[in-house]
Amino acid sequence: VLATPSAVRIGGRAVPGAVTGAPTLPVVDPSTGTAFAEVGTGGSADAARALTAATDALPTWATTPVAVRAAALRAIADDIEALATRPDWAGLITRETGKRLAESTAELGLTVTYFRVMADLVERQEEQRLTVVPQHEHRVSARPVGVAAVLTPWNFPVSIPARKIAPALAAGCPVLFKPSELAPLSSMVLAAVCERHLPDGVLGTVLGTPADVVSPWLAAPAVRAVSFTGSTRVGRLVATEAAPRFLRTVMELGGCAPFVVLPDADPQAAAQTLMVAKYRNNGQSCIAANQILVAREVAGEFVEAFVEATRALRVGDPRDPGTDIGPLAPAGDPARMAGLVDEAVARGARAVAPHGAAPSAGHYAAPTVLLDAPVDSHAMTGEIFGPVAPVHVYDDLDAALAVHHATGYGLAGYVCGTDLDAARAVADRLRAGIVGINTGTPNTPWVPFGGLGDSGVGYEGGRPGLEAFQTHLSVASRPAGA
Ligand code: NAD
Repeated sequence: VLATPSAVRIGGRAVPGAVTGAPTLPVVDPSTGTAFAEVGTGGSADAARALTAATDALPTWATTPVAVRAAALRAIADDIEALATRPDWAGLITRETGKRLAESTAELGLTVTYFRVMADLVERQEEQRLTVVPQHEHRVSARPVGVAAVLTPWNFPVSIPARKIAPALAAGCPVLFKPSELAPLSSMVLAAVCERHLPDGVLGTVLGTPADVVSPWLAAPAVRAVSFTGSTRVGRLVATEAAPRFLRTVMELGGCAPFVVLPDADPQAAAQTLMVAKYRNNGQSCIAANQILVAREVAGEFVEAFVEATRALRVGDPRDPGTDIGPLAPAGDPARMAGLVDEAVARGARAVAPHGAAPSAGHYAAPTVLLDAPVDSHAMTGEIFGPVAPVHVYDDLDAALAVHHATGYGLAGYVCGTDLDAARAVADRLRAGIVGINTGTPNTPWVPFGGLGDSGVGYEGGRPGLEAFQTHLSVASRPAGA
């Protein structure tokens, strides 16, 4: 499957782009800025064929015993695990996204877990029986919502599709998958691996324009759910399209995570936690620390440690094991980072790890700490999605939290402090779906992950991630004549 990634897969087979007549797209390696592959996209006819196949597959897949569906998920997980030990799939992720090879390998490991966790969760789900009203027995059972459309971003091109496809398949929903045009090849490998263990039509994958692919899917009667991960801007468009049909909607959108360092935090440990929370995936993660809010009591030592560690980061080829920060996939992102830095500096911030140290070819942006960033600067108030780190030193926690609450986002948050009860109380005050206390990696497939406000609606992971693809049927029965 690694040798033949294709951008259109229907009925368990790759459809060459040339057959569909839709245009090909260049796939760019952000470390060079040049295309290393051409991928054939699909047009409206491909989208329609995939839709027909998924619609036809629905009755059978929906009624396939849970144990059989769970076994398919475990077989998929085993295959991914075997492929994850080889460098080619991880290398493809790195080539498309610019993330470090170690992070690409870790992404495949996380993908394995999503399939195993969802297999376990669906098997543990039991029909509920209750007798609340005398002689009325209520039986509540979960059912697949219908065909699910899965639309995903470039930054985790395998694990994000997996955390939608795995629960949808577990629930009994055929999936129509449109990967990102920026990183389609590694997503297509996932599709091909999944198909090996699924009946024809249960997973159809088409890369193409929203008008050709997404809109017809969202309008089709059999499609009853859309699970989208991407920007808040596009999420709004997709949600608006889904609303008139009352589709089940999961929207995993942008974030602007606060990173709160409390007065009793260990400043060195907090700086190390921030290095992970900020620079993971080159800073291009929806849960990346965005607003760094540090108590004056520890600010001196914390900032010194963070700046020193940031200055020591090596920016370069993501395949080189010595690299800490690779290139950014979207071609315009380095200029976007420079714009954020310039705006904050023009308004009084100090850029202490100046950008400009990165390789000249490719989409590189050097990590930059912005000290004394105005609380209303763009870097503080919007999603950065890159290696820029604005720091604000606070005297009053309530005022610092007001900076967080002033954004419309509500996805991740971080708190560093020694008194865990006090840190948990601060976590409770964040508008967030996921918070790390003294940890930069708060996510696991076992727990629900989702945002509030402009960060979206609905959950992935955990039982809510499975239930996102289920309806609940409640049947009340009473003995005849009773
Ligand atoms: P994007 O919104 O540009 O694209 C996401 C997907 O939407 C792509 O597949 C794209 O082709 C598709 N798309 C674009 N226009 C569309 C339209 N009009 N209708 C339907 N689909 C359309 O996002 P991106 O740049 O790929 O990813 C980065 C964004 O994703 C960031 O904002 C990041 O925070 C967010 N993200 C969120 C999470 C989360 O779990 N909350 C996780 C990862 C990334």
